[in-house]
Amino acid sequence: MKRDFDAIAREKFDLIVIGGGIIGTGIARDASLRGIKTLLIEKEDFGYGTTSRSSRLIHGGLRYLRMLEFHLVRQDLHEREVLLKIAPHLVHPYPFIIPITSLYYQIALSIGVRMYDVMASGKSMPSHQHLSRREALEMEPGLEELKGLTGAILYYDCQAPFTERLGIENVLSAAEHGATIINHAQLTGFLRDGNDVCGIEVLDCLSGETYRVKARLVANAAGHWVDCVRDLLHGGPASTVRRTKGIHLLTPKLSQKALVLFSPVDGRLFFVMPWLDYTLIGTTDTDYCGDLDAVCADEKDVAYLLQGARQVFPKLRSEDILYTTAGLRSLVHIGGEKPSDITREHKMLDHKQRDGIEGLISVLGGKITAYRAVAKGAVDMVCRKLGMEVKCITAEVPLPGAPAVSQKAVAKAAKESGLSVETVTHLADLYGSCLSQVLELVRGNKKGGQPICSHFPDILAQVEHGVKQEGALTVSDFLLRRSAVGLSACQGLDAVDTVAKEMGRVLGWSKTEQQRQVEAYLAQASLGQRFRAGSKKRSRQTKKV
Ligand SMILES: Cc1cc2nc3c(=O)[nH]c(=O)nc-3n(C[C@H](O)[C@H](O)[C@H](O)COP(=O)(O)OP(=O)(O)OC[C@H]3O[C@@H](n4cnc5c(N)ncnc54)[C@H](O)[C@@H]3O)c2cc1C
Repeated sequence: MKRDFDAIAREKFDLIVIGGGIIGTGIARDASLRGIKTLLIEKEDFGYGTTSRSSRLIHGGLRYLRMLEFHLVRQDLHEREVLLKIAPHLVHPYPFIIPITSLYYQIALSIGVRMYDVMASGKSMPSHQHLSRREALEMEPGLEELKGLTGAILYYDCQAPFTERLGIENVLSAAEHGATIINHAQLTGFLRDGNDVCGIEVLDCLSGETYRVKARLVANAAGHWVDCVRDLLHGGPASTVRRTKGIHLLTPKLSQKALVLFSPVDGRLFFVMPWLDYTLIGTTDTDYCGDLDAVCADEKDVAYLLQGARQVFPKLRSEDILYTTAGLRSLVHIGGEKPSDITREHKMLDHKQRDGIEGLISVLGGKITAYRAVAKGAVDMVCRKLGMEVKCITAEVPLPGAPAVSQKAVAKAAKESGLSVETVTHLADLYGSCLSQVLELVRGNKKGGQPICSHFPDILAQVEHGVKQEGALTVSDFLLRRSAVGLSACQGLDAVDTVAKEMGRVLGWSKTEQQRQVEAYLAQASLGQRFRAGSKKRSRQTKKV
């Protein structure tokens, strides 16, 4: 991943993709695999937007059956299977328990899970099971607290514990197949040929320089910023998406299995999900019109989820929350419905048809689960517009870290590298078979094997790998989206100085720059603590769990 703006300003690309979330990186990968000369720019970092703030599920979405969105559920269940095949190191089967507390739930949910199994025809995961009250309590003793528990349903979906890395691997694959990919590069304007779009103006966010780059087509995959990008072209008619906020709470581990619960406030479905050594509780769904780059949970969001979770975990207190995350959905219907009743379907816009402007398409919405299918739809449209006929092959070509590393290979690598099995297992979960690249750095420099955080098994060599192989350019990029250190109980606060120093060594930062990087990260991390009334910043003194 070379960062050469002069070189791209001399080129003419077939396609420029705006936005390095899961949708944009998926489009860049698909396009480059089809031989389309592609540039992707991302204003912050890959996965910086909603992609890194999800529930980490790869799922059909049982609740969409209630909304009669059969097409969406079938597509997403199909994509779940595709991801199990092309990214088995990042996507894993994940059991859910739905406690039954009334006859109505029993009937409605039984029909729902049966349909879910039928729609996932050809699936590789087990079908649902009904559990008696005793069996449910054996599996999840905490359910004892739930009023009226008569039994439960056990069903399977998938989890991508390190969802951020799905995007990174799409970037790596796109780059490997010829795409030019640049993060910290923001679209600031469009080049026009009469009414049509023929390129972009891009700001190098690190140097402050602006460049002009030519292209035959531009794809706007800016997630919930999609209208901000469109507005650079023309003031535009009303918004194309409705933004709703969804938050999660991270707490010490509460349950062994993921629980599907219904809020006592409004009956909405939410999850209590084991994630690594913690529990994620989420999510909410409320309209949002604040700062798009400083989305965070507030006291009201947190109170809503705590009230729901206390049905099963009555002792859970606000003080138990380690941090919160918050992201924005882009929903394609902008009418007056309740946010939870709005479809999660995506939409493709050809601005030629909508506004009479050739050269620009926009992708609205799109779940992580369906990212490959959404990207395929976008690149099919690109091919039609470019007069090309090339088949999509992203369902067959594995992502770079595939296949998953076997336990035997982990044990062997641990022995050879001198690292613990726990560390190598963690590295294999993050990098899949690309683990060998990190181990190579440990072989070259024993210091590379040192841990960088007392809460997570990550090691120093990952920093050099993140910078040199995966385009990490800031401390936040590394802590939050290359490794999972920033997602641990301490939010990476224990590790931030070490990481800044090591990135400084690799990238040649001055002491002042290292300090600036640390402060930028602390500001980012503090968003996760904003819900605590009266204290805007979390002390660097961390909490042990
Ligand atoms: C709380 C919550 C939970 C969710 N859980 C799940 C789940 O479990 N499973 C699932 O499948 N889906 C889930 N989703 C949905 C899913 O996360 C999103 O639909 C998906 O991540 C959107 O990806 P994206 O690429 O469109 O947007 P984003 O990830 O937001 O990416 C857009 C990118 O565009 C960049 N950008 C913006 N403007 C510019 C510009 N001018 N120049 C350059 N770059 C720019 C941004 O920096 C950003 O990185 C969840 C959503 C929320 C809010």
